[in-house]
Amino acid sequence: MTDRTLIRGADWIVAWDAKHRGHKYVIGGDVVFEGNTLIHVGHAYTGDAEHVIDGSGLLVMPGMINAHAHTHRDIHAKGFFEDLATHQMWMTQLLEYTFVLKGDAESCAAAFDASVCSLLRSGCTTLVELFGYKHRPFDDWVGQVAATGIRASLCPMVASGYWYTTSGRDHHYAWHAGEGVDDLEGALELIDAALTHPSGRLSGMVGAAQADTCTERLFRLCKAAADERGIPLQTHAAQSVMEFREMIRRHGMTPVEWLESIGLLGPNVLLGHAIHIDQHPWVAYFEHKDLERLARSGVTVVNCARAFAQWGDMLRSLGSYRAAGINMALGTDGYPHDMIEEMRIAGLVSKVASGHVDLLRAEDVFETATLGAARALGRDDVGRLAPGAKADVVLVDLSHPSMRPVRDPLRSLVYSGVATAVRDVYVDGVQVVDRGRVLTIDEDAALDRLQAGQGRAMARVPDMDWAGRSADAISPLCLPVEGPDCSGS
Ligand SMILES: [Zn+2]
Repeated sequence: MTDRTLIRGADWIVAWDAKHRGHKYVIGGDVVFEGNTLIHVGHAYTGDAEHVIDGSGLLVMPGMINAHAHTHRDIHAKGFFEDLATHQMWMTQLLEYTFVLKGDAESCAAAFDASVCSLLRSGCTTLVELFGYKHRPFDDWVGQVAATGIRASLCPMVASGYWYTTSGRDHHYAWHAGEGVDDLEGALELIDAALTHPSGRLSGMVGAAQADTCTERLFRLCKAAADERGIPLQTHAAQSVMEFREMIRRHGMTPVEWLESIGLLGPNVLLGHAIHIDQHPWVAYFEHKDLERLARSGVTVVNCARAFAQWGDMLRSLGSYRAAGINMALGTDGYPHDMIEEMRIAGLVSKVASGHVDLLRAEDVFETATLGAARALGRDDVGRLAPGAKADVVLVDLSHPSMRPVRDPLRSLVYSGVATAVRDVYVDGVQVVDRGRVLTIDEDAALDRLQAGQGRAMARVPDMDWAGRSADAISPLCLPVEGPDCSGS
């Protein structure tokens, strides 16, 4: 008895086109998977199957890949962080405010579960989760990630130091005695536990926190560990003006130039953001060689358009980086964790940044969210619907108002679609979303736990802030409050 599922007579399928090495539409076709593997994608399937799903009115597409997210952490700042600015420190809110709201272990676990629900419901089937190894909020990451049903790459980040401010006007680095090298062994053990997890859905990625908080020695050790294991490495680089200026001060090189000079860049390396390269107008630098450095290295740049749009900043641009030959992927970074919204914002911001309507098209955005990210992970079995690939399959309801009228459904999904149009999701052949409801996690309970956790995090803000301010003093509610309880938190 086989465990075979047939999606019969789908109106539209986004299928792998081996000849052109990209996605193509199949109009009116079948998708079949057995266990965790796709065995047929195309026109009518003549075999039998235990489970048959009526594909009429559906778009069947590969699950998307979120190549950069901190799902357990940043969502604690929802409703607090979005309009904060410290104008004199060039995007200092990244350095100053991200870390005043810290969830405790219980709350981070809830945040992770709730965020994974959001990702699954938006058609994301693979998550790259980055977290600080030294300050990991709970020990059983591997078990918790596996229990959600999502496919995931765990990226425990090591760092030689960290940022802090003493006045809201300055920016300092504190360095660990061991340069973070002493954490690397434990981080690698965690990665190895993911790689050998019996679910087969977990993998690992070596994480070096940021270009300006890791020493050359730590970067070289991380790269060697990634190369030795045949896995990727991810770091944050070129994400703020301050980082750019700091690297010029230390090395006389841009962040990208320095990373290239120490041998870090390569096809198995992902750079979170790479926004503040030498052609970004805010850094006032005039060489304009970073784009070529990124392209020739084979590195992947992960664009988190929503997160940076919030700070008035953007990659300039997703379309032109692609045109330069750089492999691109998408990430949701902080929150919200909605890959359909992330695609739309990435696409629209690229149009604004480039001034071109068609330099980056809907199919290109979807490519970054699927095949581009899969290349970064070194995989040809995810991000595509093809026989032999993993059964990570998303069924989109074409009768959903956001998808109608139906003419070119993938384009409509990118520019007009919403997560509630996603009906069912399968990861590794297992159904994880049924008619918009996540089957593997109690989403309401996770959100309730997160709500309580956010309250605890807000109460701790005075202990975390350099000036001892309350959450409400830093970020008042957006409207005047009338009522007996004006605490707002
Ligand atoms: Zn990040």
